[in-house]
Amino acid sequence: MKQLGLMIDMNRCTGCKTCVVACRNAKELLDHEQAMPGDIPFYIRVESVLEGTYPVLSERCWVVPCQHCKNAPCIAACDNQAIGKDPQTGIVRIDRNKCAGSGKCIEACPWDVIQFDKAGNYAHKCDLCYDRVVFGGTPVCAEVCMTDAISFGELGELKNRARETGREIDRKMSAMSIVYLKPALKNTLATGGSAGAPT
Ligand code: SF4
Ligand code: SF4
Repeated sequence: MKQLGLMIDMNRCTGCKTCVVACRNAKELLDHEQAMPGDIPFYIRVESVLEGTYPVLSERCWVVPCQHCKNAPCIAACDNQAIGKDPQTGIVRIDRNKCAGSGKCIEACPWDVIQFDKAGNYAHKCDLCYDRVVFGGTPVCAEVCMTDAISFGELGELKNRARETGREIDRKMSAMSIVYLKPALKNTLATGGSAGAPT
């Protein structure tokens, strides 16, 4: 099976959240009249960790979308076969018309990336911009990132590109279809961290 994915360069991500906002707009997650901070759904979030020792500190940032898992726990958890892995692209998609709103996929997802629409009673999440990529397009997050921290492509090709350019893949973070590149300039001591949802 072909597997499309993203490659996230932790040398380049500044944590600016442009991708978060662009994704919300593209996927119409944002109700510009009613939206309250903290209540707006998101398909991609920024996480970060503080590295180094005072006074030489730096912040490493990266983004977390759906990982489009190989054996996705969300698919196994759904009683209604509302979630499936597309055989042409490897993208894990939720069919909101089949979703009964049990929320079992949300509990099963280790990455905590599935959103729930209370009004419509359905689960929803990142589909790697399926409607764009099947026509040769690029996911919105990769398109808008001003520092080119997100690359889109076939998973094997992304990994080859990392090797060819001498970059090291963070294997622990890259277990599924999103590849994370370790920062080239490495700080050895993590002194704190933060993670969480966009506001
Ligand atoms: S991936 Fe790019 S757009 Fe998204 S937070 Fe990082 S630097 Fe900003
Ligand atoms: S929703 Fe969660 S479990 Fe399902 S494919 Fe995405 S990261 Fe994996």
